[in-house]
Amino acid sequence: MSFDLKKRREDFPILQQKIYNRPLVYFDNAATTQRPQQVIDALTKTYTEYYGNIHRAAHFLADKATIAYEETREKVRLLINAETREQIIFTKGTTESINLAAFSFGEAFIQEGDEIIVSEMEHHSNIVPWQLLAGRKGAKIVMLPVDEEGRLKIEQLEKLITDRTKLITVTHVSNVLGTINPIRQITHLAHSRGVRIFVDGAQAAAHLQIDVQDLDVDFYAFSAHKMYGPNGVGVLYGKKELLEQMPPYQGGGEMISEVKFSGTTYNELPYKFEAGTPNISGVIAFGAAIDYLENIGIEKAANWEGELLNYATALLIQIPGLRIYGTQVEKSGVISFNVEGVHFFDLGTMLDKFGIAVRTGHHCADPLMDHFGIQGTVRASFAFYNSKEEIDVFVEALKKVISMF
Ligand code: PLP
Repeated sequence: MSFDLKKRREDFPILQQKIYNRPLVYFDNAATTQRPQQVIDALTKTYTEYYGNIHRAAHFLADKATIAYEETREKVRLLINAETREQIIFTKGTTESINLAAFSFGEAFIQEGDEIIVSEMEHHSNIVPWQLLAGRKGAKIVMLPVDEEGRLKIEQLEKLITDRTKLITVTHVSNVLGTINPIRQITHLAHSRGVRIFVDGAQAAAHLQIDVQDLDVDFYAFSAHKMYGPNGVGVLYGKKELLEQMPPYQGGGEMISEVKFSGTTYNELPYKFEAGTPNISGVIAFGAAIDYLENIGIEKAANWEGELLNYATALLIQIPGLRIYGTQVEKSGVISFNVEGVHFFDLGTMLDKFGIAVRTGHHCADPLMDHFGIQGTVRASFAFYNSKEEIDVFVEALKKVISMF
């Protein structure tokens, strides 16, 4: 491995502690990652040195905060290779980005009888906002199914697209299966039929080098808290010609140009979609998280996570009665599994007593659970700060827990 794991781990104060007198093994990174000292320092620095409300006041603190806030926008633009800064909208997370797009795109482009294709492996936050839209407009949701390996049945997509299809929405990486979806291929097909594409990048942004121009997606959404940054910050990227035609999502300060009782005009992009005081300190500290991630190198981090994935998978498949959901080759560092005869919740609760943090349950993906005929799974998800030693501890603890049942 080409980065110094020991040094990287030292950057994360929370990883240094013991849980139930055992070293913490944090394998719940798909839910949220931990933050390095650099991000914590950036938050502290904002509050102690230059906190003020952005964009409005003509005083020193507000000015400095505005510059730092807008610097993060530029860092995000470069990170995902967006064409312009106007296309980077700050939200409070992926969920809000999706709701914004579903509302505003829906208002502008969805009519009664239109169809929206949603994949079966989506997180609830990339299903429900589109269902709400469909309910409001009398549109229809069409499901793109997955196969037994946890792969999207792309070959069915062509047939699912009709002349009423307006949008395909799909996750870049599944939070349950780890499957990395072939976004470029889906986009190509969608655009060849005049259909727009929304991509949920919540599980991708910290693990894949994203290039929205190369992927040619119409929308892309992600959350800072899954990228070693603060919680309460997210991003919506959109194609400019779409964002320009879409009405505001929320009304309030900053999103307006002029307010009169006879009628209001709206601010230019991206401010049209950023009503009210945003998460100023969070956005500024997100800039520090992007610096940190780029300093490590997303590809280097992903290579190490890939090694961890292979190492853990090889050990887990030797355990009798253990089934892994999501066995595609193109996979990110997420392993969801069940063990015959033991409830996933019992496994998670017992692993916690060994100081091991995994996630159990439906992972906000009920349709996918229904597909596999299960209620939930145990999910271990890796970040670059995890080690093979931690995987050994996890697998040994898992075997002990299984032997108790
Ligand atoms: N989409 C996927 C694939 C996710 O994994 C998650 C969170 O786990 C979300 C969307 C929602 O993200 P957030 O809760 O940060 O809004």
